[in-house]
Amino acid sequence: MLILLFMPIVFAIDVPSVPLFNGAKPGVRMPIMGLGTGVYDGSPDADEIMKNATKLWLSLGGRRLDCSNAYPGMNGVGQGIEESGVDRSEIFITSKVAGDSPMGYNESLSEFNTVLGQMRTTYIDLLLIHWPGPSQGGDPGWPCFKGRTSFSYCRSQSWKALELLYKQNKVRAIGVSNFEANHLQEIFALGGEIPAVNQVEFNGYWNEPDLVKFCQARNITYNCYSPLGTPDFMKGKWKPAVIDHPVVANVSQHYPKKTNAQVLLRWEHQQGLVTNPRSVNKAHMLENLNIFDFSLTDDDMRKLSSIPKPQPPQPKKVCPDPHNIP
Ligand code: NAD
Repeated sequence: MLILLFMPIVFAIDVPSVPLFNGAKPGVRMPIMGLGTGVYDGSPDADEIMKNATKLWLSLGGRRLDCSNAYPGMNGVGQGIEESGVDRSEIFITSKVAGDSPMGYNESLSEFNTVLGQMRTTYIDLLLIHWPGPSQGGDPGWPCFKGRTSFSYCRSQSWKALELLYKQNKVRAIGVSNFEANHLQEIFALGGEIPAVNQVEFNGYWNEPDLVKFCQARNITYNCYSPLGTPDFMKGKWKPAVIDHPVVANVSQHYPKKTNAQVLLRWEHQQGLVTNPRSVNKAHMLENLNIFDFSLTDDDMRKLSSIPKPQPPQPKKVCPDPHNIP
């Protein structure tokens, strides 16, 4: 009894959500803050790590999980969901096809079945085409690319697969990732569904205001990835890492109860974007969920939007540049 009295009570946080438009079923809402997933350090325990992180995130009130067939540890996410005790209907799962794997109609349909198995579910809330072509460039030898110089046909085939899954109610919303305006224009020209979401790299060093405007003008929800600038991989490659940049540190001093990470995530949210930092750590998850109780001033928003870009030989972004995908 005494032990129970002294046990800390953790209240699950209620994360706000936004409605999705275009290729989204009526009433579908996307939680603004999601959990980035994947274990990228080659750990043989990726599934166990992701299972525990998923259960922790859901216990704290997080409801969106950002996944992909290309990420290590996805079976663990499915196990975590199953063991969490949270009803599937309360959870928003994003997953992706055509990341490391071939684009194409049959290819994407079959990859979707793999995703369903990983997540131990019968439907996915938001399914994205992960990349508009091979992220590393070159000819990947995919059947849809044979004899072609652009991945336009491959993109159209994968998009038609997503449209079929959407019609069949196997996904509640469909979208894309790493698509630039020209890639999106091609999808519009197909005359079918318009993507509900575009998930793109967005942090203090790499952000594309023109692409944000382009998407927002068409009600395509802009979803930031690498929102903290992937400090675990970019420390040393970027000097300093985004999260340690003096501008971020200076702005965060104006909000004594908030950290550099919270300031960066709030800056993304205040531009109308949704985001999903990756973490397996309870303190970081709690920080990331607690960005809805303060506001950045216009002046601080401007400062964060004007962080100088890293100069060569430092990389300009975390992931390859999709502008280069024909
Ligand atoms: P990120 O910017 O989320 O950085 C992750 C790192 O930040 C981890 O080391 C983590 O420990 C640390 N971190 C998290 N919260 C913190 C906090 N409050 N304070 C200090 N450090 C904190 O980078 P990411 O992993 O590249 O991106 C996040 C997610 O975006 C991925 O997990 C994945 O779901 C998605 N993603 C998508 C694509 C795509 O092509 N669509 C590409 C990359 C990432």
